[in-house]
Amino acid sequence: MIQSSVAPLSSSSGNDPPAHFVSGDRVAVLLPLPVDGAYDYQVPEGLTLTAGDVVEVPLGRRFEMGVVWGPGEGEIDPAKLKDIAHHRFDLPSLPAASRTFIDWVAGYTLQSKGVILRMTLRSARGLKPRPPIVIISKEQAIPEGLRLTDARHRVLEALAAKPVAGVATLARRAGVSSSVVNGLIDAGAIKKTFEAPARLFAKPDPDQHGVTLEADQKTAAAALMGSVGRGFSVHLLEGVTGSGKTEVYFEAVAAALRGGQQVLVLVPEISLTAQWLARFENRFGVAPAVWHSDVTGRVRRETWRAIADHEAHVVVGARSALFLPFADLGLIIVDEEHDAAFKQEDGVIYHARDMAVVRSREGEIPIILASATPALETVLNVQAGRYQHVQLSQRVLGATLPDVHVVNMIRTRPEKGPWGRSWLAPPLVDAIEETLADRDQALLFLNRRGYAPLTLCSACGHRLHCPSCTAWLVEHRLTKRLQCHHCGFVAPRPDNCPACGKAEHFVPCGPGIERVAEEAAARWPGARVVAVASDTLERPSAMAALVKAMEHRQIDIVVGTQVLAKGHHFPGLTLVGVVDADLGLSSWDLRAGERTHQLLQQVSGRAGRGDEAGRVFLQTHDPNHPVLKALTEGDAAGFIEQEAEGRRALGMPPFGRLVALILSGNDEQAVLKAGADLAKATPKEPEVTILGPAPAFMAQLRGRHRHRFLVKGPRNRRLQPLVQAWLAKVKVPSSVRIQVDVDPYSFY
Ligand code: ADP
Ligand code: ZN
Repeated sequence: MIQSSVAPLSSSSGNDPPAHFVSGDRVAVLLPLPVDGAYDYQVPEGLTLTAGDVVEVPLGRRFEMGVVWGPGEGEIDPAKLKDIAHHRFDLPSLPAASRTFIDWVAGYTLQSKGVILRMTLRSARGLKPRPPIVIISKEQAIPEGLRLTDARHRVLEALAAKPVAGVATLARRAGVSSSVVNGLIDAGAIKKTFEAPARLFAKPDPDQHGVTLEADQKTAAAALMGSVGRGFSVHLLEGVTGSGKTEVYFEAVAAALRGGQQVLVLVPEISLTAQWLARFENRFGVAPAVWHSDVTGRVRRETWRAIADHEAHVVVGARSALFLPFADLGLIIVDEEHDAAFKQEDGVIYHARDMAVVRSREGEIPIILASATPALETVLNVQAGRYQHVQLSQRVLGATLPDVHVVNMIRTRPEKGPWGRSWLAPPLVDAIEETLADRDQALLFLNRRGYAPLTLCSACGHRLHCPSCTAWLVEHRLTKRLQCHHCGFVAPRPDNCPACGKAEHFVPCGPGIERVAEEAAARWPGARVVAVASDTLERPSAMAALVKAMEHRQIDIVVGTQVLAKGHHFPGLTLVGVVDADLGLSSWDLRAGERTHQLLQQVSGRAGRGDEAGRVFLQTHDPNHPVLKALTEGDAAGFIEQEAEGRRALGMPPFGRLVALILSGNDEQAVLKAGADLAKATPKEPEVTILGPAPAFMAQLRGRHRHRFLVKGPRNRRLQPLVQAWLAKVKVPSSVRIQVDVDPYSFY
């Protein structure tokens, strides 16, 4: 979708020999700062540079790290031109593909290039190569006349068996000061040698044997392997849940490794990777490099460096890994490519899957998009012949797809129990009972954290809401707190209603996972019930523990949110109950139907992945909704077609283009004024409509007032120049922030 409409800014990623800049030349240096464009500097005496070199330059009274971007633009008076500091960082230079990628992303997202460069250099600051290891060992013989004090004697003793790494370590072992050790070195009794530090990342072995692929897996793997080393191509690897997509794309990873190249695997959420990492090790013998926001400090710096040095061969990471300075990237894989988590919503707003396709094109390498439920955009790209299609239509090892049943909540209402209101209707209750009797496991899915999404006062009707957001407070009984899921506000539940002052009148409305778990525990006192959400799994080890407990059948019923929907493989899980299949369909969002369909298909795919067949029960008030019809009839293709028709009729993406502007600020008047000023300057162009300004659905978020514009245009038109020109015409005070969201995915 992207590459068809926007020409690459540069095609310099070819094989032209790199240009050298010598003393006296003027070069453009891009700084990782929110400033437009690169700054010109002069190459000093004795330094030769090429594009991509990381250098230090004076900026005002400081020094900044930057990257040589190309020849200087030549607008500054040569007399004012400053020299590059006579220093080049000992870092591999940034490859052309990374540089043209940064240019492209900046142009597409309407951010300055420096801000995009910052995503690449973020971990480079102060980064030095790892120092060599100092080894102390004995000399052949003790020099004649050496004065052997007691302390010196102990040092020689400590070295008797084998060399020791580090002066300080040796001194500690011998119980002496470092100066004693250094004295012996000076005297020639012992010696110091240097060794390269051990590699952080062993090379994965592409020829180690993993699982034995089945016939259609082999065919798919061969198609993907054949594309490696042959330039740019995009492949959709589509396979039903449990068809073994991971094992198949591992073969393409192996092909890239055999060709001596690096591989990037993007995954939507890092909670996915516990089982994934185990499979990777099983196939390749070693762990890959891992990159996400929880990788911090020294590990982060060393990983960054190893990727730039081509010492890390395979990187699995969240969306930000796309901007790493790969020395020689040969293949990208985007797993669960349909996942909304690939859209970065803060700071630089970008879609990592779409940008990954651009990165592949700039690097002239293949990319594999894997999913059981591909995004509409991807499916249409396959239909248009832009992407190649590789399919797996069966689950491995003879497992079958689950049977899907609809539970009509109007005809079969949940019955009240001694525990109060209930959320599970009789058909689902029966199915859970059968599952428990068979000693199998059940998953109850509800995409809502906490106990109840709304608490209201039954005396006056007041709803407890967040002080800084347009949102209700969600009760969490486990932590005995009310929480705002948007800003993180937490408070104990008040004793009295803040509106009418009455005590003991609060009632919870609607269920969250804690409430459903409470019902399950009350109905089946013998069952082991666990409620799981992102906030109960804060540490990665918690997810690993949960997966273990499921595998060892220490849990009978797990009630969970979308953290359980994807990627996991629980052999004993035969029943999936979706508590509220309508949740998510009601929101106004361009992709509400598509997303709900994907999510429910993913959740359903958790059932029956072992020897036994699985069953899925979807509780709904609207059994005729196209999403539910598609799920029960197993007609994903038909659903996508219908969805595409709807969007085509409205000119919505991918048949049209959208850019959203979000104005926000603490001062509502200033936001309103900025909105009015922008409205007056609205560009008028045929076929382009601009809606707004209007208060956002979340009119207040973290205390900031929010107003939105939406620009809509035809598919064959770049909207960026229009938006850029529009914004340039209007002066907005610094208290109002304008975020530009190209191809918006959220509309709140
Ligand atoms: P998907 O991503 O398509 O849902 P996975 O790649 O997660 O499927 O595979 C599901 C499970 O089946 C994993 O445990 C995987 O290791 C296993 N598996 C895949 N292919 C084979 C095979 N050919 N033989 C044995 N096990 C396999
Ligand atoms: Zn809030």
